[in-house]
Amino acid sequence: MCSLNLRAADRCIYCGVESSHLSTEHVIPHSLAGRIKLPRASCSNCQTIINNEIEEPFVTKIVAIHRAKFGIKSRSIAKPKFLPIEVELSDGHAKKIHLAETDVPKSYLIPFFIPPPFLKLKPNTQTPVTVKLPGQSESAKLLDIVKRKYCPNANTVRVEYPFNVEQFLRLLSKISVGLFFDASPQSAIAAQVGQSVLNNPDRITDAEKLYYEGFYSMPYVKRSNEEPISFAIAFEQCENGKRWLYTEINLLTNMYGTTYYMRIPSKITGPLIRVEYIKSRKQTFTDLVCDIA
Ligand SMILES: [Zn+2]
Repeated sequence: MCSLNLRAADRCIYCGVESSHLSTEHVIPHSLAGRIKLPRASCSNCQTIINNEIEEPFVTKIVAIHRAKFGIKSRSIAKPKFLPIEVELSDGHAKKIHLAETDVPKSYLIPFFIPPPFLKLKPNTQTPVTVKLPGQSESAKLLDIVKRKYCPNANTVRVEYPFNVEQFLRLLSKISVGLFFDASPQSAIAAQVGQSVLNNPDRITDAEKLYYEGFYSMPYVKRSNEEPISFAIAFEQCENGKRWLYTEINLLTNMYGTTYYMRIPSKITGPLIRVEYIKSRKQTFTDLVCDIA
């Protein structure tokens, strides 16, 4: 797997510190088959936060469940044997059972967001991004599996969710910081997002809603056989006279089947940018077409 080295950042892309001890940052984590590297781009403080709070939990818990469910072998990631769920029995007692990986519904593992506005698939509203958590029919299916295979007198099931949505958003933000920085080192866009990666803001006030705009998703569509299993694109888009900077993030596409987007207002001037990191080299396209009034 060849890697793609971008221009050195020479400061921590997350906190902005300029130090002589900066490490190479994998924009998409190495453990998720990321190949884009930003040399001299993270300080040890930020690295510790990102490793401990974002990457490690994601790789060892969430992705490990995917790997097990989708049969992807790995020597370095321990294979989890179950998804713990709590079952309430008909007599009112509670019981913990461990769902085998083959019984874990896919919808319990992958967060879905609304489609990105530039696709114009939905009216452009200012409503909060909604994460699709398993709905009633999926919960009913799960209860059915539990009754049939594990616990005939189960009344309700409560899943200890294998991923934390906020952690997932921080991961998408962390990846976006590197791409935003590379796309526009001087615009301070990366620094702004970097703060939200580090600060662990308590953004989720409700289990099913995120009052944090700017995350979108679409089903992953393979465009070429040369696409690596994890890759990213940064691009600008004009929408209703406003200029936005997007990242498109494809993680372990064969497992996830979902493309994620993050969007923030662009502070870049000049032609619209588009940078693809798909192949072994970075490709930059510029587009002069812009509908800003
Ligand atoms: Zn830092």
